[in-house]
Amino acid sequence: MARYTGPVCKLCRREGEKLFLKGSRCLTPKCSFERRAYPPGEHGRDSQFRRGRASDYLLQLREKQKARRIYGVYERQFSRYFKTAVRQVGLTGTNLLVLLESRLDNVVYRLGMAESRSQARQLVQHGHIMLNGRKTKAPSALVSPGDVISIRPESSSRTYFKTLRQDIDDRQVPKWVSLDTAALTGKVLNLPAREDIDVTINEQLVVEYYSRR
Ligand code: SF4
Repeated sequence: MARYTGPVCKLCRREGEKLFLKGSRCLTPKCSFERRAYPPGEHGRDSQFRRGRASDYLLQLREKQKARRIYGVYERQFSRYFKTAVRQVGLTGTNLLVLLESRLDNVVYRLGMAESRSQARQLVQHGHIMLNGRKTKAPSALVSPGDVISIRPESSSRTYFKTLRQDIDDRQVPKWVSLDTAALTGKVLNLPAREDIDVTINEQLVVEYYSRR
């Protein structure tokens, strides 16, 4: 399946909430959702008034799509994460979110090295990020407690990382990771608990979506 390359703001409007896919722009009045908080398309504005009570299936589908869009994951890959989450011990929905949070691109984003997950994905794909001292170009690589994320030495003299080094002091990182701002190196202390994951996803609806298939 091809990756979605259209305007990402449409995804927020489709899901009816801000998904924060564009970094700092999302916090400005330029945010498309702030200006047009209705679904995209010719009849988007009308559809918000015509919409009746959504079916259970629609709610489940939309929640699954929202989760996919927040983390920027393909459908097939997302369903693989779900199957893995089912096999793990514990609550499937929580397991799913922890798997998504453990992706290398998400951890780079959580460490404040990128403004958005898509930017983090690009940093990884372009070979700027090292996982445990080795260049890793797979944004989907899953991290484990104790893993160290750093900038490849050849990349650290780039303007992006020089600026980042000056700005990163202000960025807050979640408690399950630590960040050495001087060295621009992060460490995974432990995998997050559900309460550490600040996404507006109702994971139970996602579980119900896959359970009915
Ligand atoms: Fe969504 Fe950010 Fe675009 Fe606003 S600016 S619609 S939050 S991606």
